[in-house]
Amino acid sequence: MTPPRNSNAARDIAYALHPYTDHKAHLETGPVVISRGKGVRVYDDQGKEYIESVAGLWCASLGFDNERLVQAAATQMRKLPFYHAFTAKSHEPLIDLSEMLIERAPAKMSKVFFANSGSEANDSAIKMIWYMNNAIGRPEKKKLIARIKGYHGITLAAASLTGLPVNHKLFDLPLPGFHHVSTPHHYHNALPGESEEAFATRLAEELDAKIIAEGPETVAAFWAEPIMGAGGVILPPATYFPKIQAVLKKHDVLMVVDEVICGFWRTGSYWGSQTLGIEPDILVCAKALSASYLPISAVMVNEKVFQGIAEGSSTIGTWGHGFTYSGHPVPAAVAIETLKIYDEMNMGDHVAKVGAYLQAQLRARFADHPLVGEVRGTGMIGAVELVADKATKRNFDPAQKVGIRLTKVGEQNGVILRSMANDSLGFSPPLIITEEEVDEMLNRFGKSLDEIMVTVR
Ligand code: PLP
Repeated sequence: MTPPRNSNAARDIAYALHPYTDHKAHLETGPVVISRGKGVRVYDDQGKEYIESVAGLWCASLGFDNERLVQAAATQMRKLPFYHAFTAKSHEPLIDLSEMLIERAPAKMSKVFFANSGSEANDSAIKMIWYMNNAIGRPEKKKLIARIKGYHGITLAAASLTGLPVNHKLFDLPLPGFHHVSTPHHYHNALPGESEEAFATRLAEELDAKIIAEGPETVAAFWAEPIMGAGGVILPPATYFPKIQAVLKKHDVLMVVDEVICGFWRTGSYWGSQTLGIEPDILVCAKALSASYLPISAVMVNEKVFQGIAEGSSTIGTWGHGFTYSGHPVPAAVAIETLKIYDEMNMGDHVAKVGAYLQAQLRARFADHPLVGEVRGTGMIGAVELVADKATKRNFDPAQKVGIRLTKVGEQNGVILRSMANDSLGFSPPLIITEEEVDEMLNRFGKSLDEIMVTVR
């Protein structure tokens, strides 16, 4: 249906180039224009209400109307609306937030660097590693290994770490020196009868062989989300990360953990690293760091990495990296308030209770559904994967766009859904969601699933 002339939708079609959008289809179908939010709900410009099953982009952890965050931004705006952190300048929000993050880190960390997005933070971490290895006299140790289906962002280097075809095809990526090993998804990738532990051992052996084939002296770091988010909410098999880390230690390869989705209670622990047993050398976070009210991301590095950077900067005279808005005082003030709210709300207890309810309900309601192959997740993150054939775990032909069509039906039924690879529907609602709201969200999802079934069978 063509939107009325001069409507928001018509002007959007006329002028906006959207991220992650089929632009030709968009010319026909147009946008959903969201104009306000309240709690776990958002409302479009026609007044229609939706429950946000993925907190926007896995990020609006405190929902869409937290007044304390608004006040924190306004107060900081009045006091010091901008200052930078170049050439040893600083300000209190940057200092306070750095201290808070180091205190909360899942492993002993030394320093925090700020950027504005997850992609920038991952690019910054890559540059830190390359700079460090040049500075400490091992310039050949530069290669990076990530995983197929991992998601680390879309800037040139971060997109090269990402292991999804849409981020590589037509972009001439990945760049040289970026490698990918197998997705740790037991449901699809384990051999018949292979236990989670045996599968994890096989994946660790694959990584070991890959590092040896490349030459351990050329491999700098391994990159991983604790739970793969955008790749389909993929939880690694039991014992995966301890086995992977043993391989990394053997070859002196750094462990970089991308906590952009998993950080700040999403997986049931403060960090995904704690849920999955990871001891990072570098930790990247964003999104729920500021509940996404303003853009900010952070890279935490351990003392060894910091010393390498310090060494290089004293030789060259500066660490030639940083963004105008690195540690911007307003997002930093919002992030400080966000972390305080998590502490004061005992967010860990809330997620333990409501996350367990979400997981139980997802399984009870959908595991036996004729279209559902696997229900997976932990804490406040989960996925329901649709299959054409439950017995063989065969997914639908991507050309059928079953997941995307389900999201459209979901919108009609008042729930914003996120469809990923293999028609996996992600669930990552605002952490503040209640059990009643989980019920309402899953009612709307279940209704949509039943409606789509008629059209795919
Ligand atoms: N890393 C992970 C794990 C992510 O999920 C994302 C975004 O979804 C990114 C990095 C990139 O973050 P941004 O979109 O802020 O650049």
